[in-house]
Amino acid sequence: MPNIAVLAGDGIGREIVPQAVETLKLIATKYKHEFEFTEALVSEDAYEKYGHPLPPQTLEVCKQSDAVLLGAVGSPKMDQLPPKLRPERAALLPLRKELGLYANLRPVIVYDVLVDASTLKPEIVKGVDILTFRELTGGLYFGSKKRATLADGTEEAVDTLVYNTKEIERIVRLAFEAAHARRKKLTSVDKANVLESSRLWRETVIKIASEYPDVELNHMYVDNCAMQLVRWPAQFDVIVTENMFGDILTDQASMLTGSLGMLASASIGGNVALYEPAHGSAPDIAGQNLANPLATILSAAMMLRYSFKLEREASAIENAVRQVLTDGYRTADIMAEGCQKIGTKEMGAMVRAKL
Ligand code: NAD
Repeated sequence: MPNIAVLAGDGIGREIVPQAVETLKLIATKYKHEFEFTEALVSEDAYEKYGHPLPPQTLEVCKQSDAVLLGAVGSPKMDQLPPKLRPERAALLPLRKELGLYANLRPVIVYDVLVDASTLKPEIVKGVDILTFRELTGGLYFGSKKRATLADGTEEAVDTLVYNTKEIERIVRLAFEAAHARRKKLTSVDKANVLESSRLWRETVIKIASEYPDVELNHMYVDNCAMQLVRWPAQFDVIVTENMFGDILTDQASMLTGSLGMLASASIGGNVALYEPAHGSAPDIAGQNLANPLATILSAAMMLRYSFKLEREASAIENAVRQVLTDGYRTADIMAEGCQKIGTKEMGAMVRAKL
């Protein structure tokens, strides 16, 4: 029986995660699966009880599980703590590292009924359905860093950008597999005209491409990709890129959909994968039944697809979300004229009703 670790975290995490859990429970009943849920504390609750935002008990629950569902971390109280105890640094990064999550997947889907929610023109974002693969444990963020004072007193700082073929191969293969199962188009983003690490990235991608003859591969420089994402985003199917380029491009791509509340994500690579909405804990709306739970519910759908290979069940959730939106129900963040505004709990219940 798959065991799911449930870490609601802070702020709206406590409201949206229960909606995703209830949705998974309904899937279990409807499709005759059994899921076990184990709750664990992270961030503020964990700090208050155990003195650390990621106590060993929580890490153990995650390691022993088959998948982790995380809400969000970050609260005004935790923001007052010294940097080494802040939840992003002391909980999120170590959790990803301990679980060996080297690939971050973020689907960017613009639902037809939400085309007006984007800051871009409807005709530009209509039909956008992109899956981005960002390398998560290598590159500039993890390479050695140093500071020095030069002879003339000038301060110098160095960050090192390192990749090896193994690190590149494993994420590029995942991206090719995904493209093979989708519209068979992969865009590899690099800066091979300038960076040696990008030249190795490109050579490795080309080598692996021979294993996927049905996937159309193209290479794009990162600066061009940033421009193409706002010029003609519908040209992309699957994008794969290194850590820092991915960090920037995925946030840019997320705004094609208009609301952070719609964006799911999965971090995979180790034995246990982590599923979480792309947004934070939104303290400004926490506890008011205002948060959009769809990103978390869609993250649960990704869990079914990637961790449990339950494609039919994952699609059922995605279709239910689409239907609720088509019927005109909206949380405040995606509200539009002529639609009916509903709260977090009601949105969760609507999705389950469609299931
Ligand atoms: P945020 O994503 O929490 O919120 C940004 C804006 O989007 C806010 O106006 C918020 O109300 C809105 N929003 C976010 N999710 C929403 C949803 N589901 N429904 C409706 N509206 C939504 O980012 P922030 O305000 O910069 O950060 C708040 C806290 O979250 C900080 O402590 C930050 O460090 C943390 N954070 C955590 C994560 C994470 O857990 N992965 C990611 C980003 C930020």
